Amino acid sequence: MLSGGLDSAVNLAIAADKTDVVLALTFDYGQRSASREINSSKELASHYKTAHKTIDLPWFNDSDSALSDTSKTIPKLDIKDLDDTVKTSASAASVWVPNRNGVFVNISASFAEMKGAGLVVGGFNAEEGLTFPDNTRAFTEAATGMFRYSTLNAVTLTGYTIDMAKTEIAKKAVELAVPLGLIWSCYEGGDLMCGACEPCSRLKRAFQETYPELVPSLRIAI
Ligand SMILES: [Zn+2]
Repeated sequence: MLSGGLDSAVNLAIAADKTDVVLALTFDYGQRSASREINSSKELASHYKTAHKTIDLPWFNDSDSALSDTSKTIPKLDIKDLDDTVKTSASAASVWVPNRNGVFVNISASFAEMKGAGLVVGGFNAEEGLTFPDNTRAFTEAATGMFRYSTLNAVTLTGYTIDMAKTEIAKKAVELAVPLGLIWSCYEGGDLMCGACEPCSRLKRAFQETYPELVPSLRIAI
């Protein structure tokens, strides 16, 4: 599952190293950043010589998530507020899309079974797992438990960064020479990543704390 953000890019890099990746999937669920995510994902997939497919899920537009409902505003989250669980929970609630990751992992498991692949890999991480329950090891284990019944080849859902905070993921990205200029982590769909939404602030903080000299390589507003 490839959204084009830092986490999924690092997971693709690790998967490309450890496994034979048969397909990268990007989901268009009407999110503001869809075209940016699709472009980034296509470029990353091409970089890692991986087949890529975009899955359209237009019915998600029935959701009133700020990610797709343009009458709403994407919450800004300052770097200093990233560990304030009241503020991060409010941000998470406004961008929540009902059962989105549940749908993504099931579609991915279908493709895995069709292609004889045993593994679905997602960009799960410990930092966002604190506010998004569908980013946790409990979620991947529960989905894997379901796939024992819903797929004939007992697909496993995993993520190589599931226990990592963003700083560790940033270090991994540099270690693996992930092309940082291709990444799109922002909730918005502008020319540059906005630099102010939650994933932008997390991305900026992670690089400022590890490789500040690489921040200009990211397509992000400072
Ligand atoms: Zn942003």
